[in-house]
Amino acid sequence: MRDRFGREIGYARISITDRCNLRCVYCMPESGVKSLRHADILSYENILRICRVFAALGIRKLRVTGGEPLVRKGAVGLIASLKKLEGVSVTLTTNGLLLPEKARELRDAGLDGVNISLDTRDPSAYFRLTRGGDVRRVLAGIDAAVETGIPQVKVNCVPLGEDSREDVLQVAALARDRAVHVRFIEMMPIGPGTAFVGVDNRRLRQWLEREYGDWTPLEESLKKESLNIGYGPARYGSLTGFQGKIGFISPISDCFCEKCNRIRLTSTGLLRTCLNRSDGVSLLPALSDLNDSRLFADIRGAILEKPERHDFVTQKEAARGTMFKIGG
Ligand code: SAM
Ligand code: SF4
Repeated sequence: MRDRFGREIGYARISITDRCNLRCVYCMPESGVKSLRHADILSYENILRICRVFAALGIRKLRVTGGEPLVRKGAVGLIASLKKLEGVSVTLTTNGLLLPEKARELRDAGLDGVNISLDTRDPSAYFRLTRGGDVRRVLAGIDAAVETGIPQVKVNCVPLGEDSREDVLQVAALARDRAVHVRFIEMMPIGPGTAFVGVDNRRLRQWLEREYGDWTPLEESLKKESLNIGYGPARYGSLTGFQGKIGFISPISDCFCEKCNRIRLTSTGLLRTCLNRSDGVSLLPALSDLNDSRLFADIRGAILEKPERHDFVTQKEAARGTMFKIGG
């Protein structure tokens, strides 16, 4: 369905847990995070029920996220069930730590694509940034995803400041050496991310071009037709000799709100229609009904109220919640 600004809402991100096996410095506090009780998060049955309504309202793409989605028991089974919804593609965003053992199961469940978050390939820098992660597992996870034949494998990188040039070049090189697309995302002033300065993607493009030659933008239509990488906010392009594309997602330097087609469901059943707003519509009351009419009405109502744009730049300190609860 369309919102009141004429945007066709076709994409829902479903956060299935607030728990994570990492503590990335810009996403989660190091300690003191109180995880939700299992009883306070949506059951898989309710997630499926909501997604069925999403599909009936025209959502064509579901992305399972978290926290770290693969730490929740039964996540692969949920993906297999979501795949049974007609006309809907199902993808996953993960830190990749559990992919070496889960990639095959995920492919067998019918997963259409996986986005793996990786900000540096340097083992000690990764350990510091994630407060304890082993980057070798993530790299093995990327290879497992490609080798098992998950149709679309992307790497998402959020560079941290001017010192990250070498990390950026190394992460970009994954797209040279493997059949993966690499996207660079500007740091957003959300949760602990507020304390970090990201890198403007225009600057990052200069770093890449100095090292790897011209970045040639891809026609929007080609994105969908020949690459199946959708009409999301990323601007993709090619570097000579690279197997995968390089994309830029620039919520700060190149706001894409007028094309924003997404909504987000948190693990507690809150439907959020903009990353910049901490409020949302709770779907819990509607889930207590036996039929879906209130669920349809509440979801339709929330979509109609989707804000026109975020205001990350002018309103830096706004309480927007935290990414590990929203799902990125
Ligand atoms: N744990 C999974 C992962 O890391 O891919 C899924 C959830 S995580 C919240 C999703 C994405 O949000 C990650 O790629 C992470 O880098 C990104 N993220 C977290 N905080 C951010 C921030 N302040 N600005 C931009 N991206 C952020
Ligand atoms: Fe966990 Fe992902 Fe947040 Fe890192 S970015 S702390 S992996 S939820």
